[in-house]
Amino acid sequence: MNVLKFGGTSVGSAENIKKVIHILDNYSQKETAICVVSAVGGITDKLLKAGELAQQKNESYLSEFKQIKAIHLNLLSELISEPNETVKEYIENKLASLKSLLDGIYLINELSPKTSDKLVSFGELLSSYILAETMKSYHLNAVRKNSQDLIVTNNNFTKAEVNFKITNANIVDYFKNADQKITILPGFISKSESGEITTLGRGGSDFTAAIIAAALKVNRLEIWTDVSGMYTANPKLVKQAYPIERLSYQEAMELSHFGAKVLYPPSVQPVLSLNIPIHIKNTSDPDAYGTLVTNDKTNGFSKAAKAISNISNIALLTLQGTGMVGIPGFSKRLFETLAQEKINVIFITQASSEHSICFGIDEKDATVAAASINLTFENEISLNKIDPIIVEKDLSIIALVGDNMKNHQGISGLMFSTLGQNNINIRAIAQGASEKNISAVIAEKDVKKALNTIHERFFEDQTKQLNVFITGVGNVGERLVEQIHQQKKHLKEQLKINLRVIGLSNSRNMIFDESGLSLKSWKEDLALSEKATLEGFLERIKSLNLRNSIFVDVTANEDVSKIYAEYLKESIAVVACNKIACSSTFENYSNLKKLSVKYNAPFLFETNVGAGLPIIDTLNHLINSGDRITSIQAVLSGSLNFVFNNFDDTSKFHDVVKQAQKEGYTEPDPRIDLSGVDVARKILILARESGTPMNLEDIENTSFLTDNNLKSDSVDDFYNTLIADETHFQKLYASAKKNDCQLKYVAEFDGKKAKVSLREIPKDHPFYNLKGKDNIVMFYTQRYPEQPMIIKGAGAGADVTASGLFADIIRIGN
Ligand code: ADP
Ligand code: ASP
Ligand code: MG
Repeated sequence: MNVLKFGGTSVGSAENIKKVIHILDNYSQKETAICVVSAVGGITDKLLKAGELAQQKNESYLSEFKQIKAIHLNLLSELISEPNETVKEYIENKLASLKSLLDGIYLINELSPKTSDKLVSFGELLSSYILAETMKSYHLNAVRKNSQDLIVTNNNFTKAEVNFKITNANIVDYFKNADQKITILPGFISKSESGEITTLGRGGSDFTAAIIAAALKVNRLEIWTDVSGMYTANPKLVKQAYPIERLSYQEAMELSHFGAKVLYPPSVQPVLSLNIPIHIKNTSDPDAYGTLVTNDKTNGFSKAAKAISNISNIALLTLQGTGMVGIPGFSKRLFETLAQEKINVIFITQASSEHSICFGIDEKDATVAAASINLTFENEISLNKIDPIIVEKDLSIIALVGDNMKNHQGISGLMFSTLGQNNINIRAIAQGASEKNISAVIAEKDVKKALNTIHERFFEDQTKQLNVFITGVGNVGERLVEQIHQQKKHLKEQLKINLRVIGLSNSRNMIFDESGLSLKSWKEDLALSEKATLEGFLERIKSLNLRNSIFVDVTANEDVSKIYAEYLKESIAVVACNKIACSSTFENYSNLKKLSVKYNAPFLFETNVGAGLPIIDTLNHLINSGDRITSIQAVLSGSLNFVFNNFDDTSKFHDVVKQAQKEGYTEPDPRIDLSGVDVARKILILARESGTPMNLEDIENTSFLTDNNLKSDSVDDFYNTLIADETHFQKLYASAKKNDCQLKYVAEFDGKKAKVSLREIPKDHPFYNLKGKDNIVMFYTQRYPEQPMIIKGAGAGADVTASGLFADIIRIGN
């Protein structure tokens, strides 16, 4: 003999009810089955809503009633094609009594807890009746028994306490003589000793089933629901959550107490002492193993932390004041006050100074709690010994649970650092002495992010999810998206990084998808999406509040560079190929670096110098490992290198520059490259990264352009001046040729000062043979004093820049 409980969704549609019948039928071929059912999914809420509306003299309670009626009549007609008169009459009578109860509430505009229990009892009465009659119509040997005849409670309406002595005797007594194969009982509802209708608390059908299972000492209690067991986190909030095969009673209790609604917390108690296993199963997937809850704690090899759960709508109340220190009795008075008001305390912490006690309760109890506590401590408050109680709302509790956590060090450290890294502020912390549970109070808005980060850290095989937001999807941005698309699978399989592009923006439009944008159709989708603004993009990323968020700036826009600080302050990493921020004032640059450290948000800009070449990364590695940079010599402009490699006495300077722009090697405004400003910015960044505070004005820039070129006020005008001044450029070339040299635009840093200039490079110099758009950097350091460390390769172009950005993103993932 076993007890099977079916929840609201399991009896929520004709289709599901047929699944339930199938399960019970199969089952009863072997053993007798006792089946406890919830109300049809959503009906308890609807009944309460109708009651509240009626109490508020709002006539829409009638439309709520109509829906309740229609749901049940539809179910009946879908399940039993021709119900007999008795069945029809029962249902109609029940619905009529429900209607008159609601009318009564409307008339006297009062809804007491007692009436509320009477009201909600209709839900389980109707569902159990419909299920039983359907089974009978299929000629199954089923009988419905009203559990109100068996379960006896006190008068504590809406969450009554069971008198186990009488209840157990009733149950044993009834089943002694029951000879049907299947017994159907309504869950949740009971009766008080004086005969009033009571209920066992929301979610209480699980409890009904547990009470019956314990009274009859059955072999197993099965909880059939809409998910395949107790998951590592609420599967509705954490997509990657998975069912846990085995849990101990304690673990199940902790998890359900802290919000894992799949099991109503009191349900564990009755079966625990009798060692009756609880098996949580999925009605829609009966073959799935589900979760087995037993007394078995020998799972020493399993993970220390088993799952993370959460409760929303928490208020945190703090009682504090110097008058509390060392004086016994404060806590007693505080918690007695709460007990008198029947307020359940979910969470408590007390600082060792005893200066304050902080506790979490259901938000709906906060007003009553605050008022009654202030009354209890009226005297002390008036004497300024303690402060009036402080109430904070919109909070949640998250709890990490596992029997084995006590044997593992560093779990709470890991939990809190994981939260900290993602900018999730922790309001309070509690850890039970048994160390089966570490819980924290956080803002409601952070719950999803917190659960997902912790889940990723503790329960996913080191797979890290990166949520990327790209602004600027021109040449380079487009390549970046392409590369991400191509590499996605490899990243997941080889690097355990799940990289998702959540947001994209160009100067016109922006588009978001929390579950990851399609990287096939993004162009079309973006063109049709909402209007973009920089602030709008930031706000959306903030409100999505996803873990490991990365903002990628693929523009050359100053306004975009000005909001990096806002991102970093939200612990959102910034990856930029835009050089403006890093070459802006030293103050701004160092502030961004500081914010990055403070908020634990990487700020990476490898592509600012040498596109995809690992120049900054190498420099950082050298310095971090204790080396010191003595000087740097470099050719850092892919575009200038291209220009001087292609320019000779058979070509025109103007044409070569045009060509470089066409190939995408120059900045959108080629003057930035040709004036040397771009190179100056790059050597500035390298000097700063080497540890030298410096500004752009400090860099000596001897331009090879003519005054005319420099004075041009538009890009077109600039090109015209290049034509006009062709002889000037030919002279530069001729001189180099005469000296057997190559023209290279060189950046130098001597440890203190930096300069950029066009130079004639002799044959024996490493720069001489630099081809096409290549860059070269020579680091002279303490460890490389004579032979420099050289990095050389393509230093411009959309593909290499995109791959440099990609590498920065992956660095964050690692
Ligand atoms: P029933 O109506 O069958 O009693 P409930 O809605 O009471 O079902 O409980 C099942 C729901 O519990 C799931 O659909 C899921 O949304 C929620 N839930 C919360 N935390 C967990 C968890 N850790 N594992 C499984 N389900 C959870
Ligand atoms: N129907 C009740 C509720 O919704 C009891 C239950 O489903 O367990 O709370
Ligand atoms: Mg439930």
